[in-house]
Amino acid sequence: MDYPQFRKLEGAPNLYAIEGPKHVTEWQPLGTGKWVVHQHYASDYPRYQWVTELLQGDEPVCTLTVEGWHRLLNEREVVSEETAPGRIPGAPVQASWKDEAAVGPLTTFGATAHAHCLAEVATDAEVRWALQDRAALPLMVLGGGSNVLMHRDWKGRMLHMNIRGVQKIADDGNAIEVVVGAGDSWHDWVMHALDEGWNGLENLALIPGSVGASPMQNIGAYGVEVKDRFAWLEAIHRETGALERFDAERCAFGYRDSVFKQAEKDKWVIVRVAFRLDRSAPLNTQYGAIQTELESRGWDRGTTHRQVAEAVMAIRQSKLPDPSEVGNAGSFFKNPVVSQAVFERIQSDHPEVAHYPAPGGKVKLAAGWLIDRAGWKGYRRGTCGVHDRQALVLVNYGGATGAEVWALALDIMEDVEAKYGVRLEPEVNQVGL
Ligand SMILES: Cc1cc2nc3c(=O)[nH]c(=O)nc-3n(C[C@H](O)[C@H](O)[C@H](O)COP(=O)(O)OP(=O)(O)OC[C@H]3O[C@@H](n4cnc5c(N)ncnc54)[C@H](O)[C@@H]3O)c2cc1C
Repeated sequence: MDYPQFRKLEGAPNLYAIEGPKHVTEWQPLGTGKWVVHQHYASDYPRYQWVTELLQGDEPVCTLTVEGWHRLLNEREVVSEETAPGRIPGAPVQASWKDEAAVGPLTTFGATAHAHCLAEVATDAEVRWALQDRAALPLMVLGGGSNVLMHRDWKGRMLHMNIRGVQKIADDGNAIEVVVGAGDSWHDWVMHALDEGWNGLENLALIPGSVGASPMQNIGAYGVEVKDRFAWLEAIHRETGALERFDAERCAFGYRDSVFKQAEKDKWVIVRVAFRLDRSAPLNTQYGAIQTELESRGWDRGTTHRQVAEAVMAIRQSKLPDPSEVGNAGSFFKNPVVSQAVFERIQSDHPEVAHYPAPGGKVKLAAGWLIDRAGWKGYRRGTCGVHDRQALVLVNYGGATGAEVWALALDIMEDVEAKYGVRLEPEVNQVGL
């Protein structure tokens, strides 16, 4: 079944766009010339049954073509609707393909690469168009390009996410639920939330990239992960076009991980993400570097959420290379999580090994420490290298190819494994490897 499917009730004007097996948009008449639009989510069995019956299209429901549905829709004016970034019922598709587009500049690593064709998509309808058009070609979604390394040209379609907008959907005076377009800049969203007094994301300031990619690897920094403030997301299935809602449980968040990197890899396009924020959110300042930064500014008493964000930004700017100056994708490797026995073996040879407790009695080792102690920090090979202030970050000094960066990464992985018996895994998504 391809979505959306269009239905109408016999003998009544109500129109339905079935966006997925669990999501229906309904246009309900108001007076003679108006529509009120409702969103229905089939979160329980009776509502799921109702969507199934609508889909079957048996009497008293009739099936409409997209043209027939548009004609009936245009007979009335929409006066009230629960909109969300990207959800613009009936909006025309304005996106188009750009052939042989240079995509290196759309990534923070900046490795030279082209996409066979590239389209900017700004609505759900444009996402569905891009999924259906030129369908024989493989498809890749690109957000801010800050967590990808292009190994070669992408011989398929590239969908550049540009759904934007911030919409508050609930506010009890303290807690707020806000939905944000997948194409919005993550850092701009964090700053906007702080301006509004919607707190809880301040430790995640200055992480590059888009809102839509934030749940992909459950972005995290300074003791906070996106899962801590995540409410739900909506995503369109790449093959069927169905729109579905994912709550935190369905996202299966882990350390730099989610279901979108595991069982549901390459199956969905995330179109918007909702967050639960709090005007009186507790401050997360337990992280040593944040405390030191706050103290150095005399802000250690009576700190505000904005001051925590400013401290985080100052720390990040002092440690991490700015992608606009030198190409990089942040941490190239994940911190390895090892058993207690493996940790004790490493610690007996290297008592000072940097480590943190991890869930399930395991131990997280600082990959940056392992790479630094293995002698790679500041190492340069041609046009790429290891950053001189943060060994976890591989950099493109200008003109490096994905293959050159990867060859360096493999050498580091082999050396660390030989020295510590631990295999590093890349955090950055390798495209075309
Ligand atoms: C200097 C620097 C510092 C960084 N610091 C951190 C940090 O502290 N913590 C952290 O967690 N990360 C960090 N990162 C990594 C990066 O910022 C995050 O992973 C970010 O979420 C990537 O977002 P993006 O939009 O750039 O994703 P992209 O690089 O465009 O895409 C990443 C992956 O997500 C997929 N994807 C993107 N958007 C969508 C979508 N809408 N639907 C479906 N799939 C999608 C892509 O196909 C790709 O597989 C850092 C990166 C840099 C360059």
